[in-house]
Order: sequence, then structure tokens, then C-alpha cells
Amino acid sequence: KELPADPITANYVRQVENACFSFVTPTKTANPQILHVSPEMLENLGLSKDDSQTEEFKNVFTGNEVLTNTQPYAMCYGGHQFGNWAGQLGDGRAINLTEIVHNNQRWAIQLKGSGKTPYSRTADGLAVLRSSIREYLCSEAMFHLGVPTTRALSLALSGDPVLRDMLYNGNPAYEKGAIVSRIAPSFLRFGNYQILAVRNDVPTLKTLVDYTIKHFYTELGAPSKETYLQFFRKVAENSLEMVIHWQRVGFVHGVMNTDNMSILGLTIDYGPYGWLEGYDYDWTPNTTDSQHKRYRYGNQPNIVLWNLYQLANALYPLIRETEGLEAVLADFGTAFESKYLNMMRSKIGLFSENENDQKLIQELENNLHLTETDMTIFFRNLSRFTKGNVESGFKTIQDAFYNTNEQSLELIEAWEKWFENYSQRLQLEKETDADRAEKMNAINPKYVLRNYMAQLAIDAADKGEYNLIDELFNLLKNPYSEQENMEKWFAKRPDWARNKVGCSM
Ligand code: AMP
Ligand code: MG
Ligand code: MG
Repeated sequence: KELPADPITANYVRQVENACFSFVTPTKTANPQILHVSPEMLENLGLSKDDSQTEEFKNVFTGNEVLTNTQPYAMCYGGHQFGNWAGQLGDGRAINLTEIVHNNQRWAIQLKGSGKTPYSRTADGLAVLRSSIREYLCSEAMFHLGVPTTRALSLALSGDPVLRDMLYNGNPAYEKGAIVSRIAPSFLRFGNYQILAVRNDVPTLKTLVDYTIKHFYTELGAPSKETYLQFFRKVAENSLEMVIHWQRVGFVHGVMNTDNMSILGLTIDYGPYGWLEGYDYDWTPNTTDSQHKRYRYGNQPNIVLWNLYQLANALYPLIRETEGLEAVLADFGTAFESKYLNMMRSKIGLFSENENDQKLIQELENNLHLTETDMTIFFRNLSRFTKGNVESGFKTIQDAFYNTNEQSLELIEAWEKWFENYSQRLQLEKETDADRAEKMNAINPKYVLRNYMAQLAIDAADKGEYNLIDELFNLLKNPYSEQENMEKWFAKRPDWARNKVGCSM
């Protein structure tokens, strides 16, 4: 085999042992072009709009120039994919450029789609425009929804063609290559710890855990068994927080493998994700998971727990006692029950607690499954319901039904019954109808990145038109506000878009 001249920095594909990362150099691209920049992220990094319009910015954030005194690297991690241990995965197409601290906040800057790394396995290290638009728009939208997430700074064309199997027609085809610069305090995943534990590399595992605690869980004390256990508890709490938010806004991640679980509880790796249109526990956007539906909407909290079990196994060599770890896992279940209940309460405008709430919410969810009912429109319109007006309840929410012709007597009766109970329950709340509506509208978004919206932006971008990316980016900055002339995005999925979802590669 012909090895590159410098085996330390070369990007040749290999197994990397006794290390957390490898130095790499991003691959230069033919004709880089920045398509969009997030003003909010610019500011977070201490950059100005003018900075973002320079040649240097373009070159740095497409991997064509490496800043002096920085040394880009790709991280080594493993993971359970669809329930099975998959061995070494790693940053196969992500490269960390550097880390900066601005306003006391640490940010790691990462390029996605910037060429091969030691972890690319059989793939090319590249990303296509469609998946890059999806990651760019969705990660910023999630932030503005209040969901813990990695962020995005820029979306760029590489100028190089990328060969992909198009899911649509099954034939390999060239697509436009793209690079997203994504930003987070850290991109460490459960898989970073797992790979070290599986290889029985306890010294490196300890180094990595100590590093993580020192920088990201600083409130915990000096390294000790107790600290490691506390660390696991915090990770579990953050992951729970994240998934409750997903359930609140109707986000379905699609590939919750342990290599896609952030150690900080951030939503990470926007691949075949999707947004619930019809409220459906069984829905998944991932067409490769359509048989078992492991990562379906209703299963996401269970999967977070399953993934935490894997992390517990990885941390075990540092703790060497199962009781503490098991207690954290048991507490996850209890905490989930109460947090989920409170979240659902808030979605329907209940801000005090009553022992019958669980039942009321269960009946609500049953009703939502009776006929395809748009989640976003349903909860948004529910805020218009006024106490005591049971007979107006059905009318308030019927715009959310996809099949408007077929409103059976059964459906109407089920909802009338529910509104009767709901209306009674609202009498126990102190808010006026207007106050309740305002609070509900700060919890139930009006605008989310519906799957077809991203698709429209992708179709336009394929033709070289990028205005829709900007329109959606701006729309999704204020997902809870009424926005003039934007009502068209508060609409049910059009018929053509049924069963059409984005894809990951
Ligand atoms: P994902 O399912 O997107 O989380 O990816 C799983 C693994 O495959 C990760 O290690 C990725 O870095 C790697 N991967 C995905 N796409 C590519 C690609 N085009 N080139 C190299 N590695 C990839
Ligand atoms: Mg991944
Ligand atoms: Mg991915």
C-alpha cells in the first residue's frame, strides 16, 4: 500500500487506536461559493457581516484555507446503529477546524462535507446540497424553537459534483456538493466514549471523560467515581430534556444511533429527520427504518433511554459499580413520566396540576390518532378555544384534519366528549382565555420546517435559486409569532408531498 508522506496528518482511511482524534486537512474544492450565513451565529463567534463577505471567510468555511495556528482534526467514535454495535465510525465527513472562546462561551467549528478523513470507511467524505440545506435550515430553526441543538454558521457550494444513489429513482447521479459549517460547544457523542470502552482503553477513556467534565460539566468536582456518576446523571438529564422538546414540537430525528447522541444533550446530525404532520406515534421519516420503525416518533424517549444504557456500559470501567448507574437509568423513567405530562399540560394550556390530567391527555392523544390530524395546526388552533363553549370546540380544531370530507359522527362525538372534559378542566385554571392563548402560543409553534418546505427550497436551489432558503431561514427565526404574508407556511402538507421525505446522505 502506498502511504502518504506524512502519516500523522494524512487523511488515509484506517483504524485509529489509543486516540480520541486524528489531525486531518480539509480537501480543497473547485469553486467554493457561500450561499447563506447565519447572522446570529456570526455574532456569537464575534464576527461581523463584513467579515462574512471576505475571500478569507469563504475559503476558511469551505476548507480551502486553514487558519494559521490551528490544526483541524476528525474525531474517533464508534456506535450502536439500529441496535447493533458497529465498531469504529468516527467523523467520516466532518472536520473540526478549531475551537474559540467568545463572551465566555466555547465553540467548536466544524465543516461537514469537506473530504475524506481516517474515518471515511468506504464513503467519500462529501455532502450534497440537498442534505446540507436540510441541516442548515433545521438546526437554526430548532435553536429558535428553544430546542437544544448544534448550530450552523454557513451553507456553501463546493463547486464539485458528488455521486449519489438518488433515493427517488434508484439511479446513481451527480449532485451539487456542499459544505455546512456547524457549531457547538462540543460535538462529542456517546460513541466517543463507547469506542474506548469497547477497546478496553481505560486510560484514554478516563482522559476523555475528565476533559468533558472539565470543560462542559464544570459544576462537577474533581475526577472520582462519584463525579463520574454525577456526570452520567447530568448527561441523562440533558438527554431527557432534549427528547421532551422533540416530542413537544413534533421533531423526529430518524437515526438515533449512539453515535448521533450528543454528550451535551444537543440535537445532532440532521440526516433523514422529519416533522410530524399528522400526529402519529408510529411515524418515522427514515425510509430505511420503515419495517421496524425503531426510531418512530412515539419511541424516541425509549431510545434515548436505550442509548443511555449503552453509555452506562461505556462509563462502567471508571465506576466499577452498577447500582449508581442503574439508579440513574431508573430515575430517567420516572422523570420522563412527570416531565412529559407537564409538557403536554402546557401544550393544552394547563399550568396547574390535577390528578385527572393524565387521563385527559391520554384521551386527547387517542383522538389525535382517529384521523390524520396536523399536529402544528391542531395545537395552535386549540388556543382559540374559549372556556365553556363546548359546542364550538370541534370547529376550532377541524382545520387540522387532512381528510375534510370524511368527518364521521364517531369523530365528532369523540371530540365533543373531549372538549366537555377539557372545558371543565379549564375552569380550574386561573388564566383568562386570552392569557392562556398567549402562553400556549409560546409553547406550540406556528411555523416549523415541514418536510415539503425544505423540499421546495432544495428544488429551487438545484436550479440555482436561493431566495427560498433565505425566506425560510427568516420565517423560522420567529416560529411562535404571527408573521404578515407568511400564512402560506401555516398550512397542511400539500397532497403532492405525502410520503415524500428528505434523505440523509
Ligand atoms: P450518520 O448515519 O449520518 O450518522 O453517519 C454514520 C457514519 O457514517 C458516521 O461515521 C459518518 O461520519 C459516516 N458517513 C456518512 N456519510 C459519509 C460520507 N459521505 N463520507 C464518509 N463518511 C460518511
Ligand atoms: Mg452521524
Ligand atoms: Mg449524518
